[in-house]
Amino acid sequence: MSFNAYAARERGGALEPFDYDADPLGADDVEIEITHCGICHSDVHLVDDDWGISRYPLVPGHEIVGVVKAKGDDAEVEIGARVGVGWQRGSCGECEWCERDEENVCPDMRATCVDGYGGFADRIRIDGRFVLPIPERISSEAAGPLFCGGVTVFAPALRWMIDAKTKVGVVGVGGLGHLALQFSRAMGCETTAFSSTPAKEEEARGFGADRFVVSTDAGEMKSARNLVDFLLVTASADIDWRAHLAALRPNGVMCVVGAPPSPICLPAGAYHVGQKTVTGSAIGSPRAIRETLQFAADHGVRPQTELYPFEEADRALARTRANEARYRVVLGR
Ligand code: NAP
Ligand code: ZN
Repeated sequence: MSFNAYAARERGGALEPFDYDADPLGADDVEIEITHCGICHSDVHLVDDDWGISRYPLVPGHEIVGVVKAKGDDAEVEIGARVGVGWQRGSCGECEWCERDEENVCPDMRATCVDGYGGFADRIRIDGRFVLPIPERISSEAAGPLFCGGVTVFAPALRWMIDAKTKVGVVGVGGLGHLALQFSRAMGCETTAFSSTPAKEEEARGFGADRFVVSTDAGEMKSARNLVDFLLVTASADIDWRAHLAALRPNGVMCVVGAPPSPICLPAGAYHVGQKTVTGSAIGSPRAIRETLQFAADHGVRPQTELYPFEEADRALARTRANEARYRVVLGR
């Protein structure tokens, strides 16, 4: 069976129509007819091979929403169900991490657009363990970004036991960041947005920021010292790590989920003073995605989206690459 997708054929290449023959449907697999797919900055990194893991032709798209059209005998979803898929398409299913609902850190983690073709397409076949139903209250246009961007910012908040007493900072008001601000507000946290784009202030406050700091302004960063307990870095570009670590209060945690190009360089003393932790986080397990969807449904957390037809995938991706998206581009049909 032939699926119709959009692929980059080389590093940084334009997205062009690309048809491929789907693998046979395995016993655990699900076939989804895709209606929507969000564009994450990781799709840009993949098309540009920023991480040296890309394989071409590369079909991006890992915030996939659609309807189940077919399934193998062992797949636990229903034909006709509205479902989604995120960054992960597979894992070993047997290791200690898979067994305790931490498939996202399985050493054999398989990525939707690296170990197969992604969601800029009319259909996809994928392991049903990573296909999850969407709560009725969340529209198909809004659901996709919760499967990658949403869980990536919500899962670390659960892991680090963020509660209403935690002062939260979010670095980068993009696809991930604008969702993080909403989750943080819904959790009752005093929230500060750190952004390199002053024009985003009003909208950032609308998403949940009580305070807005221009992260490229040395004076503003100086006045933001000792401000937050948990700093979630979603920026896709290099930032002044030292100045951002200084925004942490004693015993604070900086959790990096963005993928800036350069190594994170900090002098040891920056960790010593105030005993700070610098850590990272990778997407979220299927269980964490379920929790993200439920929390978002219950608290009205939704991406602010710009809808483009699939045929304009290349133009749409360019908006994300140029930091022009406000705040998540979604392809839809
Ligand atoms: P995005 O929508 O493009 O947002 C990234 C934000 O980074 C921008 O909106 C911008 O915010 C900030 N930024 C861009 N250029 C900057 C610069 N020169 N200096 C400082 N800040 C800058 O991207 P996204 O989809 O949210 O993804 C963000 C990052 O997270 C990407 O690197 C992506 O690959 C990564 N990611 C990681 C995971 C994971 O599991 N760890 C999952 C998904 C995505 P301001 O304009 O407010 O500064
Ligand atoms: Zn992503």
